[in-house]
Amino acid sequence: PNERLKGQTAIVTGSSSGIGAAVALALGRDGANVVVNYNSSDEGAQEIAKQINDDNLCGEAIVVKCDVSKEEDVQNMFKQTIDKFGTVDILVANAGLQKDAPLHEMTLEDWQLVIDVNLTGQFLCAREALREFMRRGMRPEVSKSLGKIIHMSSVHQIIPWAGHTNYAASKGGLVMLMESICQEYAPLKVRCNSIAPGAIKTPINKEAWESDEALEKLNKLIPYKRIGVPDDIGSATAWLASDESEYINGTTLYVDGGMTCYPGFTTNG
Ligand code: NAD
Repeated sequence: PNERLKGQTAIVTGSSSGIGAAVALALGRDGANVVVNYNSSDEGAQEIAKQINDDNLCGEAIVVKCDVSKEEDVQNMFKQTIDKFGTVDILVANAGLQKDAPLHEMTLEDWQLVIDVNLTGQFLCAREALREFMRRGMRPEVSKSLGKIIHMSSVHQIIPWAGHTNYAASKGGLVMLMESICQEYAPLKVRCNSIAPGAIKTPINKEAWESDEALEKLNKLIPYKRIGVPDDIGSATAWLASDESEYINGTTLYVDGGMTCYPGFTTNG
């Protein structure tokens, strides 16, 4: 535990499971109040909020249901957060999903769902966060920045992914969303960055790690030779949300065990 986020409030979308849950816990441990957002698993979200609330060193947590692809839901989530905690200092736009298919068989519905949640959802949340940061103004007693936006992207914002074109396109879109937000709002002291996880052990990619065979195949893609765990992303996100990383803006932090160094091209064994 560390008090670097004390007095700040964070919204973490899709935090009833996986990476989002680990991020919510990490921010809570560093003293932030946390909005644990879910769309489908109320139980998972309640459990994460309980863990934060049961720990005296942590900030306070509340659970808010919201489908990030719906404008009204997102606006409601921000309203509930501001009603409870007064403002929002940190947004971690993490909610995301996959709907895989070979492109020639992909339905418009499958394409649209992934773009709606992974890209439009992050736009809607970032827009509300910016509106709140600008309404509220600087709070030098808690942070040197007006506010922090962290987009949960993926190594597939740069590594093409056959059979997952909608997903890769959504994450590729996040690069320009994030960098354009930085260019537009950094003069107001907003920080906007992305985290690009490699392969992290969560429900989204179960088939890639549930058997020894699958894990061995996966490790061929990871120079560091282990699958990531949600806490790897939680700790990176807490640091990126804190003033310790104050001068980092418009950057993608790859947390991938070296996956983006393309180990398939190793030529010396
Ligand atoms: P996950 O399935 O456990 O988490 C995704 C969360 O988003 C779930 O809790 C889900 O309910 C929620 N969600 C889905 N649609 C939503 C909506 N419309 N509104 C609100 N919440 C919604 O998987 P995860 O691996 O923890 O994924 C979290 C993020 O990390 C995603 O953006 C994913 O693309 C990204 N990511 C994951 C990996 C990995 O290897 N696990 C790698 C790169 C990027």
